[in-house]
Amino acid sequence: MTSQPRDSAALLAQLDPEALARLGQRVDLPALLAAASRLSDRQLGQLARAMKGGGAPKALPEPDGDFYGQLDDLTPEQQEVRLAVRGFMQEHVAPIMNAYWSRDEFPRHLIPELRKLNLPRRIWNEDGTRRPGATMTEGMITLEACRVDVSTAVFFGVHAGLAFASIALGGSAEQKAEWLPKMLDLEAIGAFGLTEPEGGSQVSQGMRTTCRQDGDGWVLSGEKYWIGNSPFSDFTVVWARDEDTQEVRGFIVRAGTPGYHVRKIEGKVALRIVENGHITLTECRVPDSDRLQETRGWRTTAEVLRLTRAGVAWQGVGCAFGAYELALGYAQRREQFGKPIGNFQLIQNHLVHMLGNVTSMLSLVLRLSRMADAGQMRDEHASLAKVVTAARCRETVALARETFGGNGILLDNGVIKHFADTEAIYSYEGTNEINTLVVGRAITGFSAFV
Ligand SMILES: Cc1cc2nc3c(=O)[nH]c(=O)nc-3n(C[C@H](O)[C@H](O)[C@H](O)COP(=O)(O)OP(=O)(O)OC[C@H]3O[C@@H](n4cnc5c(N)ncnc54)[C@H](O)[C@@H]3O)c2cc1C
Repeated sequence: MTSQPRDSAALLAQLDPEALARLGQRVDLPALLAAASRLSDRQLGQLARAMKGGGAPKALPEPDGDFYGQLDDLTPEQQEVRLAVRGFMQEHVAPIMNAYWSRDEFPRHLIPELRKLNLPRRIWNEDGTRRPGATMTEGMITLEACRVDVSTAVFFGVHAGLAFASIALGGSAEQKAEWLPKMLDLEAIGAFGLTEPEGGSQVSQGMRTTCRQDGDGWVLSGEKYWIGNSPFSDFTVVWARDEDTQEVRGFIVRAGTPGYHVRKIEGKVALRIVENGHITLTECRVPDSDRLQETRGWRTTAEVLRLTRAGVAWQGVGCAFGAYELALGYAQRREQFGKPIGNFQLIQNHLVHMLGNVTSMLSLVLRLSRMADAGQMRDEHASLAKVVTAARCRETVALARETFGGNGILLDNGVIKHFADTEAIYSYEGTNEINTLVVGRAITGFSAFV
């Protein structure tokens, strides 16, 4: 505007009376001028820009984190799953997630709607074997869910990942036949109870929850902490140390079993929509038929964790995708100093840094998933992906939040939920430090675990 003549006489001298007369035949000129006089400087600036561009606002690129089109190479089935989850998240989760976040509550009424997508059956067969490309398919589900809400992905990952895999890898044929079909149809919801109040990273060595054989059953005693879905799950797979042999065993503990008590953990600031429980087992009696019959001590537990760790790496990617896309959309809309903030070099620097992170994270997890599906993934491969994606996600959500300025801390703008959720991704399924030690041991040949 400053390059235009400010003086009214000079402006009037530039007017073309014939063009004005033609315009006057089509619009009410006095009313138009009166309306223009009421516009703010910002609105006048927008109007001037629109008129210079022939009236139509410039079409801006759609925010899309897949800059290299890496997801174009998926199979038609994986594409279909991805779009189905994207539709579900936009239609059912996005409109209500802030309300449930504020209430610290999982929207259980969405489970029947989620059931219609038939997602667990895209990953697992009824006998507990994995379908071809299962890790990639799981990755697509996680990516699209986390783009909108990480908690939804965690609900699904605990049920169809950790809990399902525990029975698939450690259960007998009878146990698989009893539980897996119901779990595939989300008719029975599972939880996975490994962590204890005093045993996080060290739980493999210092597990305090015990089991003791007693006649035709087992007696479980101890506590489990942070157990996702457990406040409403139909059962929790509880890992406990045998008092006699010191071996780690797994049990299917059904909701309502005497001596099994779940208290919902309140006051979380990350992943508030997931319900986590503090489980107390007080002389809790479980029949031998609910002991996972085929476990091989801690090796089975570790195998379950290895299988699901790639999924946690995907959570970081999805969360960063969502935050980047929100930030880019905001940078295109939000105006300061008379133009969208996306015009400013420093904001473009944030956005390009975020995109670089998202693009390289995606390459990493796509490769990891292909290795997992080909049976080539080792612990250290999954650990490296978890370390790198969680760290890059943390950086990306912080830059995204910063791009929103003060508005970035408002729940309604979305990005702060991604920011907070990243803190949980960073610390669960093996903290950054523990996964680093796993990779360090593999590449140096020296174990730095203490
Ligand atoms: C939201 C959420 C959901 C979860 N869901 C589940 C679930 O469903 N089921 C379940 O069983 N668990 C669950 N967990 C638990 C999760 O797996 C643990 O939080 C995680 O294993 C870390 O344990 P901790 O939090 O006790 O940390 P700690 O083990 O106490 O670690 C604290 C710090 O010390 C560091 N540290 C510890 N040991 C070492 C070492 N040897 N060398 C260097 N650094 C070390 C850690 O890296 C970390 O920075 C969940 C956790 C969260 C936050």
